[in-house]
Amino acid sequence: MQIYKVGGAVRDRLLGKPVTDIDWVVVGATTEEMLAKGFRPVGADFPVFLHPKTGEEYALARTERKSGRGYGGFTFHASPEVTLEEDLIRRDLTINAMAEDDQQNLTDPYHGQRDLEARLLRHVSPAFAEDPLRVLRVARFAARYAGLGFSVAAETLELMRQLSDSGELEALTAERSWKEISRALMEDQPQVFIEVLRACDALKVLMPEVDALFGVPQPEAHHPEIDTGVHTLSVLEQSALHKQPLTVRWACLLHDLGKGLTPEADWPRHIAHEHTGLKLIKAVNERFKAPKDCQELALLVGQYHTHGHRALELKPSTLLELLQSFDVYRRPQRFEEFIAACEMDARGRKGLEQRTYPQADYLRGAANAARGVAVQPLLEKGFKGPELGEAIKLERLKALKAYKEQA
Ligand code: ATP
Ligand code: MG
Repeated sequence: MQIYKVGGAVRDRLLGKPVTDIDWVVVGATTEEMLAKGFRPVGADFPVFLHPKTGEEYALARTERKSGRGYGGFTFHASPEVTLEEDLIRRDLTINAMAEDDQQNLTDPYHGQRDLEARLLRHVSPAFAEDPLRVLRVARFAARYAGLGFSVAAETLELMRQLSDSGELEALTAERSWKEISRALMEDQPQVFIEVLRACDALKVLMPEVDALFGVPQPEAHHPEIDTGVHTLSVLEQSALHKQPLTVRWACLLHDLGKGLTPEADWPRHIAHEHTGLKLIKAVNERFKAPKDCQELALLVGQYHTHGHRALELKPSTLLELLQSFDVYRRPQRFEEFIAACEMDARGRKGLEQRTYPQADYLRGAANAARGVAVQPLLEKGFKGPELGEAIKLERLKALKAYKEQA
């Protein structure tokens, strides 16, 4: 049997990037031989094994054929006769279809190295169109390598467009899609992920609520970039520049969905978009079965981001309602993430990227003031049950009034 490094490990070594996980392909072996060497079988669908010591993934060379719709609609064929070239041709991008032996001899039948130099994400063969997940993967790689000057080859974008128009994207499971989306959002330029999806018409299939924001104007006084889609991409870009966690990036992407519902007659104003957007945010959350913390923050940011911006003008009672909604007493981290998302929203505007955001410290101070109210003295006064709750609220309100006066 011959063993080769494949995929990301080869690509990233050639790019001079750190290699984290290594995928291996094994040519000329049977499952029985792998088991005899102590490899542990994983993968229910195709012959993939874990190395007994390193735990890295070793896959038997295989060919694939499309036999139906969706992820299950593939027939795999693995046998000792399958060659390295045959295994590589089923891969998505030329830069991912290179292999390397233990002497670092490169096998590159589909010119991945040439495309690395040309900074092009190009599909390996027309079979690319057999797996709709590749649309998301290519957009994710575009987000990751945009900083190095990579873009999607025109003919690959065309294939992606055909896939998007064919209805195949709808066959993707929430789990597979979310895995790509969440990884893409954590890349250096997550806005490129959305841009590429939009360029190949996939965005209007996957997230029509986000797609609908393009072409929707906002008041120029607050939004010099005017277009709501452009603004959303800038907010996402800011969230990556500021190294925000996934929860915040997801909330940034979805915060303004309500603006896509504003009747044209009301443009460029978007009255109550915080509320109209909630059902859209919920729909996107559920479509991809986003984790609970992502879902929650996106909804809260959608509902309250304009409160964040107006923090210094809020009445103490409104401020208190905001803090209660976030349960800042038990969930301080979530409130920090809200503040971060608001700041990204404020900076994700043309020419305003460097602005300061005094609202952030003001909101932190308010949360501290409310948290500073001690419950013990109220218990000692004999408050119980719902009355205790009311008494605590009153004390917090007093604390916020005092805070606002001295701020
Ligand atoms: P990463 O750095 O994100 O791990 P990677 O290229 O190693 O990038 P993996 O998901 O680990 O990506 O997959 C390993 C290799 O398997 C890819 O480089 C590619 O050759 C192939 N591959 C993975 N998923 C697909 C797919 N859906 N269609 C075609 N080829 C794929
Ligand atoms: Mg990998």
